[in-house]
Amino acid sequence: MTPSPSPARREAVILFSGGLDSILAARTLLDQGIGLHALHFDYPFMTKEVPAPDDAGKRSRAELAAVRLGIPFRKALLGEDYLDIVRRPVHGRGKGMNPCIDCRILSFRLARAFMEEIGASFIVTGEVVGQRPMSQRDDAIRTIDRHSGCGGLVLRPLSAKLLPPTLPETEGWVDREKLHAIYGRSRREQMRLAEEWKIGEYPGSGGGCLLTDRTFSVKVRDLVENDPGFRLFDVHLLKFGRHFRVGPVKAVVAKSEEENRRLEAFCRGKAAVCVSRSHPGPSVVLLGGDPGERMGVLSRILTRYSSAARPGPFEVLEISPGGERTVTVPEDRDFSEVSRGLLC
Ligand code: SF4
Repeated sequence: MTPSPSPARREAVILFSGGLDSILAARTLLDQGIGLHALHFDYPFMTKEVPAPDDAGKRSRAELAAVRLGIPFRKALLGEDYLDIVRRPVHGRGKGMNPCIDCRILSFRLARAFMEEIGASFIVTGEVVGQRPMSQRDDAIRTIDRHSGCGGLVLRPLSAKLLPPTLPETEGWVDREKLHAIYGRSRREQMRLAEEWKIGEYPGSGGGCLLTDRTFSVKVRDLVENDPGFRLFDVHLLKFGRHFRVGPVKAVVAKSEEENRRLEAFCRGKAAVCVSRSHPGPSVVLLGGDPGERMGVLSRILTRYSSAARPGPFEVLEISPGGERTVTVPEDRDFSEVSRGLLC
């Protein structure tokens, strides 16, 4: 059933990244008296940062941008549903492992549910037609709207004049004449509007989704193919160090002393980390394979990456969720398999 807003105040949900396009889309509609509710998705692949325990309670840049605009803000964590489309996208992937069309369909479905929950009437996004190759093409936009059950409900104020009128326009809740006709990747018109509206602070563009990064996608593809039941923990683990695939064993090798400590903290209570006690060297997480196979990979990695001139064996503290133990790892100079297994 078509939602029927009170004539006094029109309400909409805006998909709000906190970037300039979403800020401009919000400003365009606030100027028309539309009440907005910002919905911000926390995508697990959106940043290289790994969530830290002291993040709780911190305001994100998106939340600060919403506060500056004076609109209520809700953050939604994308979890298992999102990982499922990374594993098996129905509408294919872009140049990396990015399942953009499925990702947008999921986001719009969730936005529609939120819209119904709060009694709003339509959905707004800062999308610009032709800006992104996969999800912001004309035909992709139609596919996304149809498959998300949001046909006619999604207003894209920055490109609205290039698209068929949506429900808020045909119903006269929004004046189409005051919307924009921005197309493509140039940011010139957005910069002009930002200057005109004196929007001084906004995060730079450049879409940080790691799934569009071809180097990072090598690790994601390895995860999808070798561990299809992966969880959020495994996704965040991709953001650490060097990754190796040697047969059934995956090794994550920290790149610096500082990363050793971060990797150990991140894995505490969740996975075993091997910390070399006898030689300066990387902390290593080993997943998959049997104990003998893991030990073989560990001995070659420690031999290759430990910085002491002294040869092995190595005394290693294995810190696992079940406790700690010290193991002796022999030296092994056969690096060929490990070198071939470097993912990135
Ligand atoms: S770039 Fe990443 S977050 Fe953006 S639509 Fe594609 S998969 Fe989703």
